[in-house]
Amino acid sequence: MRSSSRLLAFAPVALLACASAPPSPSSSTKATTNAAVKPAPSAGPIRVALTFDDLPAHAPLPPGVTRLDVVRSILATLAAHHVPPTYGFVNGAKLKAHPEDAEVLTTWVRAGQLLGNHGFSHMSLGEGADVAAYVRDIDSNEEVLRAYSPPGTPEKSWKVYRYPFLQEGTSKEVFAHVRTHLRDHGYRIAEVSIDFGDWAWNPAYARCAEKKDSAAIAALDESYVQDAKTFLRWSIGAAKEATGHDVPHILLLHLGAFDARALDAMLLAYEKLGVQFVGLDEAMNDPIYATETAYFGKWGEGIFEQLSDGVGTVSLPMPLMPLALLDGICR
Ligand SMILES: [Zn+2]
Repeated sequence: MRSSSRLLAFAPVALLACASAPPSPSSSTKATTNAAVKPAPSAGPIRVALTFDDLPAHAPLPPGVTRLDVVRSILATLAAHHVPPTYGFVNGAKLKAHPEDAEVLTTWVRAGQLLGNHGFSHMSLGEGADVAAYVRDIDSNEEVLRAYSPPGTPEKSWKVYRYPFLQEGTSKEVFAHVRTHLRDHGYRIAEVSIDFGDWAWNPAYARCAEKKDSAAIAALDESYVQDAKTFLRWSIGAAKEATGHDVPHILLLHLGAFDARALDAMLLAYEKLGVQFVGLDEAMNDPIYATETAYFGKWGEGIFEQLSDGVGTVSLPMPLMPLALLDGICR
């Protein structure tokens, strides 16, 4: 049972924090073992589509940094690395509390980037979820997506759904209900194949910036890039195990201040490993993302974790996130 060993490894640092709430902003990257993950040999470039969740606002900000600073920095880095138009997944409810963050969305779109649906209020589809309310929440986000897309944008462009917390339902019935709703409304699903838990660096960075602890921030810089590389290698290995070859990957990131800070170094590291950045459309077309994984657990999982915990076609042990570092730093 990989799930239970993963939970045991995860428990000491993180279970307390998620006892009453979903464990992370967009996913619940969990750890199993820190067995070394060897880079898998790969024919041709490693293709990776970047995606950003939680627009227009994710996680606490360090002192003196605004949401606009975050989006502008990310956009500049994407341009510098010639990343193709990139999806940002929107939670429209955030604009109610902070209408000024509308400028984050307009700035994103004006730069030629794309919008996708992440649910109006980022609802959980974990245990006990109200499925009727959940699908209403998907629909009610459409007004925002329509309003902020450039005039003439076909609905098909923003009818791409990223499940909040990557949770797709804890039973076959719930899973099927939401999938049917999405299909009937013309949605494609933006699964994830690389989730290194980038979200966890953002609150740690806000704390360290508050304390002006530059040594701690340097440790965050290094660990973020290292973790991003480790999980890329694991995903390549898992793809080969599941399909016999590599697949175009979909990387989960968030519109956070630390993501903005570390993005350039991370993309550089990926380029050195032979990564070529592709659009989400190209990646989503790969049949791996339409595979029936038969995973109905409470944790949000990327596609290879689902295959591991569902049909069992992946057995490569997942690497560990440095959760102890991230939870404890700058307290
Ligand atoms: Zn999210």
